[in-house]
Amino acid sequence: MSLQEVDMYSKILVLRFPKTEVKKPLVCYLARDYDLVFNILNAGILPRREGFMVLELSGTKKNFKEGVKYLKEQGVKVQNASQEVKRDEAVCTHCGSCTAVCPTGALAVQRPAMEVQFDQRKCSVCELCVPACPTRAMTAKPINQSFF
Ligand code: SF4
Ligand code: SF4
Repeated sequence: MSLQEVDMYSKILVLRFPKTEVKKPLVCYLARDYDLVFNILNAGILPRREGFMVLELSGTKKNFKEGVKYLKEQGVKVQNASQEVKRDEAVCTHCGSCTAVCPTGALAVQRPAMEVQFDQRKCSVCELCVPACPTRAMTAKPINQSFF
């Protein structure tokens, strides 16, 4: 294994953009100025016009760190994506609160039973449902190694 391979770094990140930055191609600058490779897994605009993006970012550890620093300087909130988000079925009351924030439709009300279904295959691990759930039924399992 070469030294360069050892130094390569890859992580799935959740970015949240302030309203003012939503239209700027900040992620393209990461590729151009920091030599990082990105793969956008999910993106959208949240109800309060804040943008979010889930992406896999790869590059050398040094460039990765500098790229993340650049994003933060632009007012972007950067988080590690969890490995997975799960629902505790015993605790869920099917209140529907989480469906209002889930950008991918992974949490959706099924009619006519009006039960909230969780389809983990559609989940982008953005974690927006975790604080939105009043009964703490939604939980995120974090990646052990934290970068930030
Ligand atoms: S917000 Fe929580 S309790 Fe309500 S439907 Fe979603 S997972 Fe269930
Ligand atoms: S983490 Fe929650 S809000 Fe985000 S996509 Fe998955 S189920 Fe939806």
